[in-house]
Amino acid sequence: MKIQIITLFPEMFDGVFGASMLWKAQKDGIVEYSCINLRDFGLGKRKTVDDTPYGGGDGMLLMIEPLMKAVEAAKNNDSKAKVLLMTPRGNTWLQSKAKVYADAKQGLIIICGRYEGYDERITSVVDEQISIGNYVLTGGEIPAMIVTDSIVRLLPGVLGGETSAEVESFVADDKTVEAPQYTRPAEFNGMKVPEVLLNGNHAEIDAWRQNNGGSGIDE
Ligand code: SAM
Repeated sequence: MKIQIITLFPEMFDGVFGASMLWKAQKDGIVEYSCINLRDFGLGKRKTVDDTPYGGGDGMLLMIEPLMKAVEAAKNNDSKAKVLLMTPRGNTWLQSKAKVYADAKQGLIIICGRYEGYDERITSVVDEQISIGNYVLTGGEIPAMIVTDSIVRLLPGVLGGETSAEVESFVADDKTVEAPQYTRPAEFNGMKVPEVLLNGNHAEIDAWRQNNGGSGIDE
């Protein structure tokens, strides 16, 4: 699966894509990440990528021409790729969406906004606009990392355990979280691991986990 990211800050991805499961997924040939630097498509000698908004207002917007050219360059690498735009205006990102994209294994082109955002006309070539939640970040790079991580870890062969990606929070319905977990020692500073997890009775353990998962602690 090819994932191309259009960004003004490609260096931000080195750490996230260069470590742990995301790194291993690329090493094993399961996924191929690349960054397209929007600056390369900037206008004029200064490679300008932003301008002031029509109608006034604070800050700068990413201009349509560099964005469109960057998407065209990415499409030249992978003509069937889906284009995702990171934006607070988008559909909220959910585990079920990560699963749909992981199952499709279709290439992705992820556009990271910056400054006060982007010229809205770029949405004419976007397949889905995605928000990672109701708060504003400085740029679309962290949302792009979140979207990429949540998809890549679902690709076959990325996680170690066969069922690791199936018995997790939000898999059932985007709401239910898995039960608390414990490892050795069985007692620490007087805090004991629930007895049922130590007795080896898998039916009882499953029942305990069933009863202790749920809606999490969002109170
Ligand atoms: N002026 C915009 C607004 O009020 O909606 C916020 C722009 S934000 C500072 C810059 C860029 O960060 C956005 O264009 C988008 O690409 C990204 N971004 C910020 N928050 C986001 C979120 N919750 N989900 C997805 N992308 C986000």
